[in-house]
Amino acid sequence: MKKENPKLPKTYLILKIIGGLLLATGILLFILSFVIFNQSGEEASRMGMRFGGTCAFIIGIFITFCGFIPNVSKLNVKTTKYIMNQNQDDLTDISTMQGEISAQGTSKVAQAIKEVFDKDGEGKTKYCKYCGKEIDYDAIYCDRCGKKQE
Ligand SMILES: [Zn+2]
Repeated sequence: MKKENPKLPKTYLILKIIGGLLLATGILLFILSFVIFNQSGEEASRMGMRFGGTCAFIIGIFITFCGFIPNVSKLNVKTTKYIMNQNQDDLTDISTMQGEISAQGTSKVAQAIKEVFDKDGEGKTKYCKYCGKEIDYDAIYCDRCGKKQE
């Protein structure tokens, strides 16, 4: 089976770079505010620098986070695909993405979800409204009393 490896849009890489730079700038400004301004007269500059640094840091975190959104959604798509068709290739991709231990967790989650789906369809039963016998979930007539089920 051919493994598809869609390239992420460059925008997200740029977002990561800009976000990372802003984070670094913010930290740097904050540290510099302690180092550069030693005289008491420059308190305003120091506060301005710290304020700027904090802003850059917060915006940096936000932009970096945005840069990682496609990675997260790609992983979710893979996980959902694996849950639906239990394809071993998808599980391999997931394990590459998030590490072997987590893939074992995904396998367990997939199993649990599949069990829920299975219960919803075949094998599920209900009780006859009239005589109380356990019958198939999609049975139209009760096989003991013969009354029609709604
Ligand atoms: Zn019945």
